[in-house]
Amino acid sequence: MSETRERIKCLIIGSGPAGYTAAIYAARADLHPVMYTGMEPGGQLTTTTEVDNFPGYPEGIDGPALMIDLQKQAERFGTQVRMGMVTEVQLNKEQGGIHKVCVDNSTWVEAETIIISTGATAKYLGLPSEQRLRGGGVSACAVCDGFFYKGQDVAIVGGGDTAAEEATYLANICNKVTMLVRKDELRASKAMQHRVFNTKNLEVRFNSEVDEVLGEQVVEGLRILNNQTGEKEEINITGLFIAIGHKPNTEIFKGQLDMDNTGYLITQGKSTKTNLPGVFASGDVQDKEYRQAITAAGTGCMAALDAERYLATVESNEEVTAK
Ligand code: NDP
Repeated sequence: MSETRERIKCLIIGSGPAGYTAAIYAARADLHPVMYTGMEPGGQLTTTTEVDNFPGYPEGIDGPALMIDLQKQAERFGTQVRMGMVTEVQLNKEQGGIHKVCVDNSTWVEAETIIISTGATAKYLGLPSEQRLRGGGVSACAVCDGFFYKGQDVAIVGGGDTAAEEATYLANICNKVTMLVRKDELRASKAMQHRVFNTKNLEVRFNSEVDEVLGEQVVEGLRILNNQTGEKEEINITGLFIAIGHKPNTEIFKGQLDMDNTGYLITQGKSTKTNLPGVFASGDVQDKEYRQAITAAGTGCMAALDAERYLATVESNEEVTAK
């Protein structure tokens, strides 16, 4: 392990819309932010095609192109964007304390503030046909991609609140939605179940699993397995939405930062403050409910403002102590 060399005023971990927006604000406030991009520079949006719901792009924009624009904007004000994965952290519990962060299992840096924007990763079923057709009709975000299946027949997998919400969302746009639930009941709240069962063009199939996604370049259908009878059936669809949950990327913070029982970071009130001074969380890593690029960007802005105020308080306390 090499020795600690560098002291960073504002370290941003993660390069999705939350991280880049935090970087834009932090850089403009002279916090000289340094961002480590993680394994998937640009985050989840780089795996989608067209983004139609990010304000400011009347014609829509490619997910990867949007992320490049955000990076350029952050760099324009002096953000240092570095390829690298934060692999370990030693967070300080004291007000004004210095945090230590290890990058790529080799280099330790120090940070006065940290903004965590490591996001969450959508879970997939893991079938080879599903993986092959990601971006070709298989999506993990109905709100992002549902519009492309207007008037068509689609299917959604999952029985939780996300699946229920997205299924009803899709039903408004699509001709027919088939919801595949592996158990004989929905896990979603009663209110959401009520919405599902009262949506006419939404058919719920219980005890049903995806056996294979059909199609070479794009989704053309689905082979469904009834896990009670063993029967298989093919249906024609053009879009398959996977809504079986997300996993927040918080492994390295376990035992140091407060998380809920599903691993999402807990922030205080309407702020981005975690339980430790100088450590802030923005984007999907602390939000399992909205999970949109624009909401992530909004909390990225908040995190930079919170970090700026925190540093100002620490600095004014140091001045008082020095006098
Ligand atoms: P959940 O973990 O609640 O539900 C996941 C669903 O996917 C379950 O029905 C589960 O089935 C199913 N599933 C998991 N793995 C597989 C698999 N391999 N094959 C088939 N099905 C599978 O995740 P959600 O994303 O729905 O919700 C996460 C949290 O966010 C929850 O606490 C939820 O209440 C909350 N939320 C709240 C919203 C709101 O209040 N508006 C909106 C969205 C989410 P099984 O039941 O068999 O395990």
